[in-house]
Order: sequence, then structure tokens, then C-alpha cells
Amino acid sequence: MNKLREGVPAFHSLLIDPVKQRARAHVPKPATRFSSAWRGDDEVVAFLNHIFTEAAALCASDVHFHDRDGWTEVRLRIDGDLKTLYCLDQSASRFIDDHLRAKCSLSPSERQMPLDGRFRFDLGDRMLDVRVSIIGTDAHGDAQSIVCRVIDAGLGNGTIDDIEMPSSTRNALAVALQATEGIVLVVGPTGSGKTTTLYACLGTLDRPEKHLVTAEDPVERRLERANQVIKNPQRNFPTILRAFLRQDFDVCLVGEIRDAETAAIAYQGANTGHLMLSTLHSKTTASTVTRLGDFGIDPYTIGSATLAILAQRLERALCPHCKVEYYPTEGELHTLEHEAGYVIPASYDDGAPFHKCNEAGCEHCRDGRKGRIPIIELLVADDAVRAAIACKDPGAIAEAATLQPQFRALQHAALDWSLAGRLDFHTAMKVGK
Ligand SMILES: [Zn+2]
Repeated sequence: MNKLREGVPAFHSLLIDPVKQRARAHVPKPATRFSSAWRGDDEVVAFLNHIFTEAAALCASDVHFHDRDGWTEVRLRIDGDLKTLYCLDQSASRFIDDHLRAKCSLSPSERQMPLDGRFRFDLGDRMLDVRVSIIGTDAHGDAQSIVCRVIDAGLGNGTIDDIEMPSSTRNALAVALQATEGIVLVVGPTGSGKTTTLYACLGTLDRPEKHLVTAEDPVERRLERANQVIKNPQRNFPTILRAFLRQDFDVCLVGEIRDAETAAIAYQGANTGHLMLSTLHSKTTASTVTRLGDFGIDPYTIGSATLAILAQRLERALCPHCKVEYYPTEGELHTLEHEAGYVIPASYDDGAPFHKCNEAGCEHCRDGRKGRIPIIELLVADDAVRAAIACKDPGAIAEAATLQPQFRALQHAALDWSLAGRLDFHTAMKVGK
């Protein structure tokens, strides 16, 4: 760093050591926990410090504060479901609202317009990134609905090694990400974990010698080395992407392809020496090709620039302590083989059955489930797939996919997890339907 070819230059006082600078920037600021600011707010401050610490401990994704008739309901979203943890006296509501607004530097008097803000909460050994959304729920703005999305900085920004998937899938995805040019798409409905997988792909590529850029709405995870640009009314995704194409980047993450213009520029980037990563709302890898066609991308461009399409769902995993072995009924076996087209492996007859949930739960879980598991269908664009895409032949795409060793249709991937004891059999049967 700062290697100079000759002597002490006239600009030497401008040079800094980025390592020391970074260390300075990471010293936690004392105000990153809630502290008393007004008379009588001590208990609310203690409660806020407790609830965000508890949210991190329980791996909650969101903290909800909803004003009801005369009381405030505090809920956490854990493994996709909301759970009411506390019911507070209404007198706490205004203090909670004031403290959260103060933390995000939001106006205390704006009671009608929806407000967005964010703050960092100090967990002691790491930071919690909290994104706050506030909206008044009555005519006077007295009652509020406050939702805080919490992102544990200690868990985020991982790589694809941190995402549970079969090793054949991981290896095929890693190969696709090694390309210097093309596009990798992650598809699925809202709440399917696409963003986590997309950032894991970016995390895999995060190296000092790479220029990473992201266009997002809003910025989901902060990356130290990436240039992250937020979409707003003055600059939409196409405007940001056009500017990026003049910024000599290696890898670009586009939050979501939602329109024809964004799709066209993303594919332009993918065809001109850049690695593009993005998400799309579609159900399966095959329907993604149709959706891209609807956006006006011609089949030849889709075939030539697409590296891989990853379709994903997220389901609640079985508790490892109380899961129950399960042998499907005759009718279910018939459906499995003839309707789902699932080939039951030989190990099944040797005493390795499917699994089901123990709804009663045990001391380690609430209801027989613990955590969530991604179910992944990965289509790699090889020669056969490219030819099928160019011919706009969905049947041929599906046929080419089944020849790929890592390819498992969503429902088959889910049934594999049930055999492995990670997913309930009946939940697996419904995946991808
Ligand atoms: Zn259990």
C-alpha cells in the first residue's frame, strides 16, 4: 500500500493506512444501545435493549410493535412465523416510537407519512443492522405500526459455503460463479430466501482485486468493498446500470429484474464482459426462460448469456431431536412414483425411510420444527440447454436439465431432504406445486 517510486512526495500528508482507518471506523459507538433520554423512560429503554438482544438470540428476522386497542403487541418473526412475545401497556407505545425515531434521526412530529430509517444496535460482540418502517394506523397518527427488519451482521455476508445445499449443487454453482461474463439468476416467490442466496453468491466473489457494484431497493446487506447504490425516484435500476457500465466493474448485483428495460441492460452487461447477479419473480428455472422472453430478451441472448438459474423455496426444517421416521402409504407411494416421477433410492428398502414432524415438539423445539432449509433447483446453461432455449422448446429444456448431475426439480429436492431427515414428508410433497 502507498508504494512510492521516489522520495517523499508533496502529497504525502494525504496518504492513509486503510487497515488502521478501518479499525478506527469499527470501534463501536457508545450510543448503539438505547439509553434513557426522558423522565420515566427507564423501563422502556430496558425493554428495547432486551427485545433486540432477544431477536438476535432467537434468529428473528423482524420485530413488530403494533398498537392495539389500549395495548401494544410485540411480535417476532421466527422461521417465517410471527410469534407474540409481549403485550405492553399502551403508555409504553409513545416512548418506544420516540426512541426508535430518535435512533433513526426521524422527525418526531411527522405522524401521517410513512417513515423509513435504520440504525445499528450493539450486541457486544457484533452489530445488529435494524431497518425501521413506521406508519400511523389511525386518523390522528396516535396509533403506530412499527416493523423493524433485523439483520445480524455476524451472520450475513457469507458465501455459498454457508448455505445448506447438496454438494453437487454447490459445486455446479461455484463453477458458474467463476465465469467472468454472463448472468446468474436466483428466482422464487417473496420469502423464499433468494436475497440471502444472492448475497452469498456475491460474498463468494468478494475479493480485493474485484470491483463489486450493487443496485438495490433498498440496500439489504452492506459490503465493505462494494459500491452500493440505492434506487430512488431520480434514478431507477436502468439509470444506475447504464452508469455502472461506464464504471469498469467486474461483478454487479441487481436487486430485482422487474421490467423489460432492466432486463435488457442486465443482459447487455452480461454480454459485455461483466458478471451479473439478479433475482426474478418466477416459479421454476424453466418458467424463468419464458419470463425473460416476456421481457423481450431474444432466446439467443438468453441462451448465450445465462450461466445458471437457481429456483428456491424456504421451508421449516424438522427438529433433529424429535423427528419421526415415516413410511408413506401405498397411495402415497403410487403418487410419488407415478405423478411426481420420484425414483425412491435403494437405501429406502434398506431401512432409510422418509421423515415426518412430531407436532407435539420436544424440549428443544416448539412444534417439531427448528430453523429453515432452502430447497434448490439449479439449472446450468450447458450446450444442450442453450440449444433448447434458442429453439424456445420448454420440453427440451426440461429434458436437458434432467441430464445434469446436480439438477433436482424442486419437489424432488424437497423429497431428498425428507429422506435425509431435514424436511417433513407431507411438506415436501407440496413443494413446487
Ligand atoms: Zn423437537
